[in-house]
Amino acid sequence: MATSQPIAQLGHPILTKKAQPIEDISSPSIQQLIDDMMQTVENAGGVGIATPQIHHNKRIFIVCSKPNARYPNAPDMPPTAMVNPEIVSHGNEQENGWEGCLSVPSLRGLVPRYTYIEISYFDRNGYKHHAIYTDFLARIFQHELDHLDGLTFVDRVASTDDLISESEWFRQYN
Ligand code: ZN
Repeated sequence: MATSQPIAQLGHPILTKKAQPIEDISSPSIQQLIDDMMQTVENAGGVGIATPQIHHNKRIFIVCSKPNARYPNAPDMPPTAMVNPEIVSHGNEQENGWEGCLSVPSLRGLVPRYTYIEISYFDRNGYKHHAIYTDFLARIFQHELDHLDGLTFVDRVASTDDLISESEWFRQYN
């Protein structure tokens, strides 16, 4: 059974640790972790969540972009668990965009990300996938991959001027 988990908040040490690769994707504990992350991100209205955010130190995240109250312009896709995800290559161009994070409530940050990335990951059944992500999906992937390397978006802003409250972000940009 999937159980929504408490989300680690900025300052919790788990959010600054490098997560460990998964060796046995089929193990019941990993499958349970994926189920719990799916439930947690859905309940929280996120477009992605990484394992450290539910207090585990494993290289897994969920990408689940769909339009919702927090991200009205997000593309629609089925929730996808990505195990041992990697950026294989990327374009040269970066673009600034506003990001939020379930671990950093009520704040948005202007973060530069690659607009074109070639990625790989294993799905929850152990099959390897390659894909090209652009724009918003590329942004989510880079944001979640950062979590597996102990970084949050506040580590990526160029200046504190690029941090604003979520209410102010809604007022100015929607
Ligand atoms: Zn996040």
